[in-house]
Amino acid sequence: MLNKDLAICIRAIDYSETSQIVTFFARAAGKIDAIAKGSKRPKSSFDGPIEVLSHGNIVFVDPAGEKLATLTEFQQQPALINLFMLYACLFAAELLNNLTHDYDPHPGLFDGFLEFLHNANEQHSTSDQQRDILALLILFQLTLLREIGIQPILNQCANCKTSHSTGRLTAESRAASHEIYFSSSANGLICRDCESSFPDKIRLTKEASACLAGLKQIPESAEKTLKEIEKVLVHYLTGLLGRTPKMAKHILRN
Ligand SMILES: [Zn+2]
Repeated sequence: MLNKDLAICIRAIDYSETSQIVTFFARAAGKIDAIAKGSKRPKSSFDGPIEVLSHGNIVFVDPAGEKLATLTEFQQQPALINLFMLYACLFAAELLNNLTHDYDPHPGLFDGFLEFLHNANEQHSTSDQQRDILALLILFQLTLLREIGIQPILNQCANCKTSHSTGRLTAESRAASHEIYFSSSANGLICRDCESSFPDKIRLTKEASACLAGLKQIPESAEKTLKEIEKVLVHYLTGLLGRTPKMAKHILRN
C-alpha cells in the first residue's frame, strides 16, 4: 500500500553504490526505516542523495513483513541545518587539534581560524554555498600548514625548482607544462620532468594546478576544481597525521 506523509530524515546510510537506507521521522507514521533505491544516482525521484535533516513529502510502500519500507518519492527540501558547513568547521577543528602542540601559540593561526568560522557562517543558502565553504576551508588549511611550518611548495617544482610558468616550462611547451603533479613525498607540486621519481604523485588538472600555484584564484574557482584540491590536501594531511582525518569523508563525499 502506498503511504503519503510528511517526514524529516534522521539517519541516512549508504547501502550500495546507488542506494541508501534512510530513517524518517514521519508526521503521521512515526519513525520508519526505508530503502531508497537509486537515491544516489544523478537522476532519482528523491532529488539527489538523501541528506540527514532534510525534510519534505514522502511516498513509501509498507514493509509488508519485511524490515524495510520502500521509499518511492521524496520531495526533498534542503537540510534545515547546513551540514556541510558544520563538517567543514569540525574538520578545521580536528586539524588544529592534531597539528598544533600544547602551549605553542600561533596568533596568526588563531585569527585565521576565527575568521574562517565567521566567514563560513555567513554563507547563506545559495546554490554556490558549498563551493564557497570549500574555498574558505582550503584557504584555512593552507594557512594552518604555513603557520605550523609545513607548507607544501606550490610556486615551483618542489624537486628541481623550475617555476611552473618560466624556465623549461615556457610557452612552446605550454600544453605539456600543464602536466603538473602533486606529491606528498616531494612536499609540493612537481613538474613532468620529475614526476617519475615520485610514485605517490597525483596528476592534477590544468585548473587545479593553476589554482594551487596561484592561490588568489581559489575563491573564484569551480566547485569541481576545489574538490580536486581538497582531495590532494586530504592526501597530504593523511601523510602528515599518519591516518586520514576523521571528518575528511564528510568533506569529500557528494
Ligand atoms: Zn621538476
